[in-house]
Amino acid sequence: MQQALSPASPLQENLRKLTDEIGGRVPGTPAFQQAMQWGMEGFRAAGAESVHTEEFTIPTSWAEGNTEVDVVAPVKFHVRAHSIAWGPALKPTTARVVDVGMGTAAEFAKAGDVAGVIALVHSDVLKTWDDLFQEYYRAPGIIDLARKGKALAIAFTSSREHDILYRHINTSTGKIDVIPQVLLAREDSERIARLLAHGASVQMALSMPNRVGPTITTRNVVAELKGTELPDEIVILGAHLDSWELGTGALDNGCNAALVIDALRSIKAAGIRPKRTMRFILFSGEEEGLLGSYAYVRAHQKELDNIVGELVLDEGTGPIASFSTGGRKDVDAALAPMVQPFARWKADQVTDDATVGTDNYDFMMQGVPTILPNQQEANYLVNYHATSDTFDKVDFAQLKKNEAMAAELMVELANAPQRIGPRLTRAQIEATFRETHLDDQMKGFGLWDDWQNGMRGRKP
Ligand SMILES: [Zn+2]
Repeated sequence: MQQALSPASPLQENLRKLTDEIGGRVPGTPAFQQAMQWGMEGFRAAGAESVHTEEFTIPTSWAEGNTEVDVVAPVKFHVRAHSIAWGPALKPTTARVVDVGMGTAAEFAKAGDVAGVIALVHSDVLKTWDDLFQEYYRAPGIIDLARKGKALAIAFTSSREHDILYRHINTSTGKIDVIPQVLLAREDSERIARLLAHGASVQMALSMPNRVGPTITTRNVVAELKGTELPDEIVILGAHLDSWELGTGALDNGCNAALVIDALRSIKAAGIRPKRTMRFILFSGEEEGLLGSYAYVRAHQKELDNIVGELVLDEGTGPIASFSTGGRKDVDAALAPMVQPFARWKADQVTDDATVGTDNYDFMMQGVPTILPNQQEANYLVNYHATSDTFDKVDFAQLKKNEAMAAELMVELANAPQRIGPRLTRAQIEATFRETHLDDQMKGFGLWDDWQNGMRGRKP
């Protein structure tokens, strides 16, 4: 779609305002409120026929205080560190550090008694999407072993080099975690590990005055272009608007929030009047556990049969390599010709993998067809949730191409004679787990129990 590629596109200026003038956007903060206004104004300026917000709650608010970490013996040095998000506060305490390797059960057993200690956990340097999933998957087991061993806290090693710190979270419910956890700069952590390996008893002073508060009310921002022929059938383009606050949430996910707004503008500017209704959604609460999209599917239960498809972007500005169906082989035949024109950007493949990745998850678990572009890592991972996730990292030439593809695909989905696939039953959704191993990911992210007990996902 040519309108997306135009040099006169307001995409870049919109994202500059969001990242530089508003900054990091944690739900419940004034910055998120400003971002919501930014989203509503952006949609209106883009030509949306209607714009509104939809409220939901997150069980607790959380903000980091002045986290302080110092090694006090056998040598004194300051350690660069941040609390893990939604972790409990910890009063100033000095404790012994014990190296538990990568934090496997065998390594914890080898480390011996960890009661009252700070368990130091190593990490690999983050390079691929798989590495990122591993970073999330490992945590629940480590937390469980540390808690059972009555450790005082867990000190994770940054998966980024060169002193980069980032905000990580190990819960997906918006509730406070079970044990204090801190992320240490890789260089400091490895120095501590070397001291331990050479027989020193390392004492660490740790203070994490995190502020934990009552329930937060936050909102998704929703804009619409009404369908001319099938207004009750809906296609959705979504991206999360919230971000962590150490950086300014440019790659994750301001760029794609701006893309969603600009895709609406491009479609309007092209004079397209979609047959089905198009909805453009900026979700909140994604970083706390995909909570905005979870709230959306709960609030729109009666509409879910009529949601024809959901397209979600959340992988920065790397080139789109292919489009994932979330394990829906039944939609391949309908989707393949829709992405065929993207061969000009080498993005014309359909894949049947499934990921818990982002705001696709709760729609997928409701049996709604979802489409998640598989993007190249580009510079996303080194800056992921980090102090360095800022406007200067954004590849606008590529972002515009990604927007052109998203806008074209929305038009295809809205105007196709047939839907790309039906809403799946619970049994059919479960059948996709067997092929994609999505169930393993759900367990890794702590989402399996809620699927099993019917809290989250399509009911039998
Ligand atoms: Zn994201």
